[in-house]
Amino acid sequence: MNTILPATIDLHCHSTISDGLYPPEALVAHAHKQGVKVLALTDHDDISGLSIARCEAEQLGMQFIDGVEISVTWKKRTLHIVGLKVDPNNAALKAVLAKVKQSRLERAKLMAEGLDKVGITGSFEGVQAIAGNSIITRTHFARFLVKNGHVRNNKAVFKKYLVKGKPGFIDQQWMSLEEAVTLIKDSGGTAVIAHPGRYGLGMVNMHLLMHEFKSYGGEAIEVVTGSHTPSQYDQFAKIAHRFSLKASLGSDFHGPGISYMEMGCITELPAECVPVWNDWPEAQHL
Ligand code: AMP
Ligand code: MN
Ligand code: MN
Ligand code: MN
Repeated sequence: MNTILPATIDLHCHSTISDGLYPPEALVAHAHKQGVKVLALTDHDDISGLSIARCEAEQLGMQFIDGVEISVTWKKRTLHIVGLKVDPNNAALKAVLAKVKQSRLERAKLMAEGLDKVGITGSFEGVQAIAGNSIITRTHFARFLVKNGHVRNNKAVFKKYLVKGKPGFIDQQWMSLEEAVTLIKDSGGTAVIAHPGRYGLGMVNMHLLMHEFKSYGGEAIEVVTGSHTPSQYDQFAKIAHRFSLKASLGSDFHGPGISYMEMGCITELPAECVPVWNDWPEAQHL
């Protein structure tokens, strides 16, 4: 098994292409400063930051992995599937993600209508101004609501406005699990279930998910992520072992002060895990 140092690899983070705070180049520079040597950029439903991030990483002597975090609807829940080593020029992947970007824009209009009904006006325009050309996420709505004094902080804003049953929530239908895994595979990538501990799944559904994911060709799950507790590291290491899935590791960094975890601060995979990067040339030199 590979024995690279934990803090030197990070396979999950976000730039301003989706809901991160640093533009791709600055994000890569930040990762470098934090000691990361192998980095995947995994913006939500968008791969347009990859070429510039790769360029910056190569200049800094880092290994760069092309990634994406795709939103999926499975059993009426939203799941996130990370694709690692996808081809950023793959036409099908680009076309599907362009459609998702458009559907996020339509969703944002509906979210703004919901907020209008509780007296919060101008959120669509406000969010567009914050997001610029980025895909629009609930995080952008959260920033709008905090900036305009509707709530005190980022933690409260989701609970009050942006989760199921609240005025800014729209029950979006994302692509299916099969479609996401197939897209990732067909573009040369490896499909990874992001932060499986965050979906509130019971054991039966968790096992069903692992089984189904594997049947479509999914290969790994995140075991160590900024969104898991240390006890979940062990729990998901066991699940990975049981389902013969590889393990991934990533901070899910979005920006300073707003992330679960800083880059370069993440602990290593439990010893029994088979790292998803085990046979990657990019990770051999570490
Ligand atoms: P979306 O894909 O537009 O539904 O936005 C999801 C993003 O919102 C996630 O990737 C997180 O970055 C952020 N998010 C979701 N739930 C929360 C929460 N409870 N607190 C803070 N950020 C959240
Ligand atoms: Mn996010
Ligand atoms: Mn996620
Ligand atoms: Mn993420």
